[in-house]
Amino acid sequence: MISSLVFVVSGPGGVGKGTIVDALVERDPDLWLSRSWTTRQRRDGERPDAYVFATATEFEERIEADGFLEWTEFLGNYYGTPVPDGDLGGRDVVLEIEVDGAQQIKQLYPEAILIFVLPPSREEQRRRLRGRGDPGDRVLARLRKAEIEEPIGRALADHIVVNDDLEQTIGEMQRIITIERQGRADPR
Ligand code: ADP
Ligand code: 5GP
Repeated sequence: MISSLVFVVSGPGGVGKGTIVDALVERDPDLWLSRSWTTRQRRDGERPDAYVFATATEFEERIEADGFLEWTEFLGNYYGTPVPDGDLGGRDVVLEIEVDGAQQIKQLYPEAILIFVLPPSREEQRRRLRGRGDPGDRVLARLRKAEIEEPIGRALADHIVVNDDLEQTIGEMQRIITIERQGRADPR
């Protein structure tokens, strides 16, 4: 993992992180997307492999076994990045995680690159959460949580991207990845 670049994509719920990283990984075979564990229920229409869906007991056993690079509790559920097993084949790593996890990864790998994604407005974030089918109380909880996450994310970020038009955002992220790879090839 150390010889790879580590891109941490973070930002408030519903901003579009999952959509963006799926597109990036599909278009760039040199990226490897970590699959997180969570104890939350799968959403209607969500891919079964979006996460490893685990019970709290399974999750806690993995914590005890030092099986996570980072983990946190978010709105009443556990989320964590498992320690990668196997060879990444030289690919760069993408983690799509919330800000507490991003802080932990920055401590572990100070050279990790944090891209913080923001919505064009809180109203648009609300529309996206509702459009995704999140129940009303979860929408409210995520919007409230966003108020806490955003200042932390902005302070921690190496790059800030506003996800207004999706294709433009993907292009901007690809440019950031290219620039960071050039930095690795040509360290100053
Ligand atoms: P996150 O992973 O940040 O919680 P998602 O990727 O699940 O967010 O996106 C939330 C919803 O917003 C999804 O329905 C997705 O299709 C939609 N979405 C993502 N990016 C955009 C965009 N730029 N414009 C409009 N809708 C978007
Ligand atoms: P959701 O329930 O919307 O899928 O995810 C809730 C939040 O948890 C999002 O901000 C998402 O990025 C974050 N998340 C997903 N996986 C992980 C993980 O492995 N670790 C941490 N710290 N956060 C995660």
